[in-house]
Amino acid sequence: MAIYIKDSEGWSTNLQQEYHLEALTAFGERVILKRRWQTEDFVKGLVSRCTACADGVTSIASRVTDVYKQAGDSRCSSCYGIGFEAGFIEPSIITYTMADDNDDDIKTSKSGAREGEDPSIQLPHFPRIRQGDMLVRFFSWDSPTNPGAEEGRFVLDAPTPNVLRTGSEFGGALANVIGYTSSIKRLPADHAYQGVVL
Ligand SMILES: [Zn+2]
Repeated sequence: MAIYIKDSEGWSTNLQQEYHLEALTAFGERVILKRRWQTEDFVKGLVSRCTACADGVTSIASRVTDVYKQAGDSRCSSCYGIGFEAGFIEPSIITYTMADDNDDDIKTSKSGAREGEDPSIQLPHFPRIRQGDMLVRFFSWDSPTNPGAEEGRFVLDAPTPNVLRTGSEFGGALANVIGYTSSIKRLPADHAYQGVVL
């Protein structure tokens, strides 16, 4: 999705981000976002490898990790198989909306297993979401920061940025992200992420 605006001033992007965020806040559903550490964070030195499962001593899984440079042991209770310390970044509370009129799909499907019917959703531009991040839904919220009973946990597919073009410049238009479109898949009851502390 792209919205074209002739104005090339920076404020137009900020306003669009604000409008998008306001719409999500007004019409969206509040959820907890747990962003997972990724290899790019490790490369930047933001996180260490999980010492419980990837220190090269404890298991065969760690040797596999060394070879493939990716996730650790999925049974690891420290990183949930992500391979980096604690697995996830501190949680954020965000609001999202369903992009399609298919809210019932994820409300009624307990196993969530129907192929090809992952609901498409709209997310704010910040915090930056990435494939593999987790969303946790709740039946209700006791207050804006206190969730009630948990409805389920979902993993995000690769997000597509929704860009705002702010006018043409030599070599192409400037584009800024005003939000993301992604889809969510319900995690099965025995998935390692069900043990993640929010
Ligand atoms: Zn681990």
